[in-house]
Amino acid sequence: MPINPRDPYDPNNIFAKILRGEIPCDKVYEDEWTLAFHDINPQAPLHLLVVPKGAYVSWDDFSEKASSEEIAGLIRAVGQVARENGLVDPGYRVLANIGQHGHQEVPHLHIHLFGGRQFGTMI
Ligand code: AMP
Repeated sequence: MPINPRDPYDPNNIFAKILRGEIPCDKVYEDEWTLAFHDINPQAPLHLLVVPKGAYVSWDDFSEKASSEEIAGLIRAVGQVARENGLVDPGYRVLANIGQHGHQEVPHLHIHLFGGRQFGTMI
């Protein structure tokens, strides 16, 4: 069921539990601001998720409330993860689902990185 991006942050969402180390993930990257790991149900040969460590429901919440350092940290981490995983050449896709129409399932902001195949046109 897609989430409402204006709902209050639920500290028991699955990515909050991963960030607290309560459930495992297949980690590929971590820094002060972010954690990145393999999606459990990959939609491409390489499907990674980058999440901010702060408690943000969605892109909407994050873009409104996160500090400049957190925003820069997330953007830089997405680029770093892509470089470290060989995605830059031949290229990859970055996606964030937001709310009902975006079909966001997990109510903690996450950036999808898809790579390893040709994705064709946008949608
Ligand atoms: P979204 O529709 O953008 O909210 O996507 C949520 C993503 O989280 C989906 O691609 C799921 O496969 C992924 N996911 C859910 N639970 C886990 C988990 N425990 N570890 C890694 N990825 C997960």
